Amino acid sequence: MFDFLIKYRGIFVVLFVLPASMIFKAYMGSRHRLIFFLNSAPDKHDERVQKVQQQVKDWQEKTGGKVPMCTARPGWQAMSLKQGNYKKTHYQVDVSLMDILSIDREKGTVRVEPMANMGQISSLLKPLGLSLAVVPELDALTVGGLINGFGIESSSHKYGLFQHICTSLEIVTADGELVKCSPEENSELFYAIPWSYGSLGFLVCAEIKIVPSKDVVHITYIPYTEKQAFVDRFAEESLKPFDEAYDFIEGLVYSEQEAVLMLGNFVDTVPAGKTKNALNNFWKPWFYEHVRNLLTKGTEQEEYVPLRHYYHRHTRSFFWEMEQIIPFGNSTWFRYLLGWMSPPEISLIKLTETEAIHELYDTHHMDQDFLLPLSTLDQSLSYFHQEVDFYPLWICPMRVFDTPIRGMVNPLRNEQMFVDVGIYGEPNIANYIAKDTTRKLEAFMREIGGFQALYADTYQTREELREMFDHTLLDKLRAETGALKAFPEPYDKVSRAART
Ligand SMILES: Cc1cc2nc3c(=O)[nH]c(=O)nc-3n(C[C@H](O)[C@H](O)[C@H](O)COP(=O)(O)OP(=O)(O)OC[C@H]3O[C@@H](n4cnc5c(N)ncnc54)[C@H](O)[C@@H]3O)c2cc1C
Repeated sequence: MFDFLIKYRGIFVVLFVLPASMIFKAYMGSRHRLIFFLNSAPDKHDERVQKVQQQVKDWQEKTGGKVPMCTARPGWQAMSLKQGNYKKTHYQVDVSLMDILSIDREKGTVRVEPMANMGQISSLLKPLGLSLAVVPELDALTVGGLINGFGIESSSHKYGLFQHICTSLEIVTADGELVKCSPEENSELFYAIPWSYGSLGFLVCAEIKIVPSKDVVHITYIPYTEKQAFVDRFAEESLKPFDEAYDFIEGLVYSEQEAVLMLGNFVDTVPAGKTKNALNNFWKPWFYEHVRNLLTKGTEQEEYVPLRHYYHRHTRSFFWEMEQIIPFGNSTWFRYLLGWMSPPEISLIKLTETEAIHELYDTHHMDQDFLLPLSTLDQSLSYFHQEVDFYPLWICPMRVFDTPIRGMVNPLRNEQMFVDVGIYGEPNIANYIAKDTTRKLEAFMREIGGFQALYADTYQTREELREMFDHTLLDKLRAETGALKAFPEPYDKVSRAART
């Protein structure tokens, strides 16, 4: 049965999900544009916030504050892999504010509403020669989800996670009050919101750092056939001071010893005699396969990539997940004939997954991002090889800033440079059981002072999650702002038991 599902799922996706995705994207795109067009009015932002405040007050009256609240966004639309059970029982508040409110060039910030997404913000900023300092890969990722959850990109060694590029936040708390916070004002709240998963209130506005951008990224690909050499150079580049560091750093690990380090810089133009590679054209090979080919050449390579193609280089293949969904998706015939329909919509893939597919994923699959101290990268890669044995791995450095007030991510050691290691695929170890292996890796993370990205399945107990993520500040503020009964705590939204 499982073999049948693996073999024919690609055909089902190509025949049904890809065309449906085209219609869905066109519909959602026009709906989004229509809603945006009808509602887009930065000067109406205050009115929209008042509506959120009114809904919270109605919740008090209607439920006596006894049923916790959550956002009304359906679980299947979110990027998290599973849908939260809590959506069925909690009081839903519509927070679908999606406007870009203003750009302050002098201050270097953009003010946006929480449902504004990466695609929308980068399309607006790009013609102005600007960009968010951290642009997470998928266009559909929302500001609200990236701040209350987590968001990373290959510029995170300089700027940190998406939450670190926020300069001020506004939330509606359990009593319907609008509270603004920043490092200077209500600073405890400001540092408690990242990773809080909506457990403090509804985010209604964020001010985010923007940086000057250029049209092209020059990438240098450095192949390694020895793990230690790759880890050493990766660490050296990641730890360089801000002004000396490359704009973008990323690694792809292809086997126990083989890896490619990618170092990128913004450039104005492509020098004469050099060619631009528009990586995301539908007939081009998937990015990680393109890089794998460079590895086989054995020497340093370089190329010039248009900015948007760089930012979304893993989107067509969802890193390497697409191979599991459409096994023939990178074949030349498929790319030329049907590649223009790719990628399928993640929300539709989630909607069309049957129980059998979920079971299949539980026995054959792993989707995790582990955030670990850079000094443990070598040891961690060896541990992942022993316990999972899956390649490629995504390796991306990220800075955890030493903020005056520590929130959920409170590094054990005095180390600020971390690495996101992404494991997305079918482990090769014998008798793999997702829960058992994931629990081992979670325990390893707690031991080395690492963290788990919580969009993925976490099998930790409440106590273990609390050991990994410091809840001291969150608990204090939840008690002070009346959030304890108004919003579920992160565990009750992200644990495997809370998600279907
Ligand atoms: C296939 C896939 C690819 C991914 N690729 C990347 C990637 O390239 N880079 C990256 O950084 N991450 C990536 N992620 C992970 C992603 O960052 C998280 O899922 C993130 O939380 C984004 O979520 P979302 O916009 O769908 O928000 P949601 O999942 O809707 O929200 C996340 C949490 O934030 C809360 N929340 C959302 N809006 C509000 C609000 N207004 N007020 C209060 N609480 C709110 C929600 O209740 C929820 O608990 C990927 C995930 C998947 C499944």
